[in-house]
Amino acid sequence: MKDSKTIKKLKILSMLFVIAVFSVCFVSCGNDDKDDITTNESTQSSLTGTANGHEWVDLGLPSGTKWATCNVGASKPEDYGDHFAWGETSKKSTYSWDTYKYGGRYDVKNIGSNIAGTQYDVASVKWGGSWRMPTLAQSKELFNNTTSEWTTQNGVKGRKFTSKKNSMSIFIPAAGGQFSGYSTEGEDGGTWLANVYQENNEAYIFNFTNEGIWWDTYDYRCNGYTVRPVLLMSGNTSGNSSGNNDNSGSGTGTDPGNNNNSGSGTGTVNYTSCPDNNHPHAIDLGLPSGTKWACCNVGATKPEGYGDYYAWGETETKSVYSWDTYKYGRSSKDVDNIGADIAGTKYDVAHVKWGGGWRMPTLEQIKELMANTTHEWTRLNGVAGRLFTGKNGGTVFLPAAGDRWRGEFYGVGHWGIYWSSTPYDENYACYLYFYSDNAYWDYFNYFRNFGVIVRPVR
Ligand SMILES: [Zn+2]
Repeated sequence: MKDSKTIKKLKILSMLFVIAVFSVCFVSCGNDDKDDITTNESTQSSLTGTANGHEWVDLGLPSGTKWATCNVGASKPEDYGDHFAWGETSKKSTYSWDTYKYGGRYDVKNIGSNIAGTQYDVASVKWGGSWRMPTLAQSKELFNNTTSEWTTQNGVKGRKFTSKKNSMSIFIPAAGGQFSGYSTEGEDGGTWLANVYQENNEAYIFNFTNEGIWWDTYDYRCNGYTVRPVLLMSGNTSGNSSGNNDNSGSGTGTDPGNNNNSGSGTGTVNYTSCPDNNHPHAIDLGLPSGTKWACCNVGATKPEGYGDYYAWGETETKSVYSWDTYKYGRSSKDVDNIGADIAGTKYDVAHVKWGGGWRMPTLEQIKELMANTTHEWTRLNGVAGRLFTGKNGGTVFLPAAGDRWRGEFYGVGHWGIYWSSTPYDENYACYLYFYSDNAYWDYFNYFRNFGVIVRPVR
């Protein structure tokens, strides 16, 4: 548990990177059989390059993330490379709970909720520099911003992912998973992501077959999958979580100048919405429905305060958030029906704690906020988060308070999750999610039993 509190220092080895770009003649991957890339280099396109001797491609992704052309252990794009259990950095002959280094199926060791850049990140350990295992956010970004086709490259089955923006592409072979001697080679292309799945003995994989792509599926950590690294660019630290409850100096901002002002006590935004310090206020953002958003979270006394974390439908905070402690469900498949919309009910913590017409926002109100404001990653009084600005100039600041799962905090200072009052289906509830590069509504990654922040509306 202690290691999840370690603050990761994201060192951008830009010097190494620059040197590596100039040493492109010595790349080990793709140089011989992908002459389009060499051509791009000679015409000085910045869409390809190398870092620490490994080639990357710029797919024009919004976050600036560059994807490697090869898997860890591979020398060509279509080579499978090596399989690894999640968090392990050496290949082996059998992948099972019996051989897993970090515990068994029912007593798995917590090595962090996001291992990108740590000693457990095989891309970082084997390739060094700024290479990392991709995060769940980067997996989703790849999926959203590319088209793909099932194809064969030099006799190897896999999928080619082509940028919607610049026609560059990567090929990921169907290297398959390995489980106790069994392999799905040639059938699917599962590659590990850096994020642990909620059940903790599982971690996320980016997976595909000839039929489709699943950017957020998951499997047991003991199984063997390949890893396709991404290159951490300056300012591109999306999804990196240390699980620490400390918002100082993590440097996740994409806006220059935001990375080193933590603790200075001065915000970098011109936040003028509140008329006085007698919070909460109802902020007019000029939204079509007339909805006003509160200036702060339930449990917070100022706009940048994180406030309290609540499981969906609960109205009291607690120290452990899990299925064992959740009032309205026992597993992701066994959740109580507490209504099609809990806004204004006894399950609505904004209504219960604040009264006076305050409610949890519905999904429609979150969508309205997204559609009628601009938003940017910034800091308010040293706290990272997103500032939403309405067309009338009104602003609300949502701090990146992260979330709670079991007894831990995750993603504090790195991402924000805000409950809506709207269920997605019988198991999930919808929420607003944001990190340094983006914001969107979602439902899938956080079960109702997670501890999540609430920003009221009225
Ligand atoms: Zn206020």
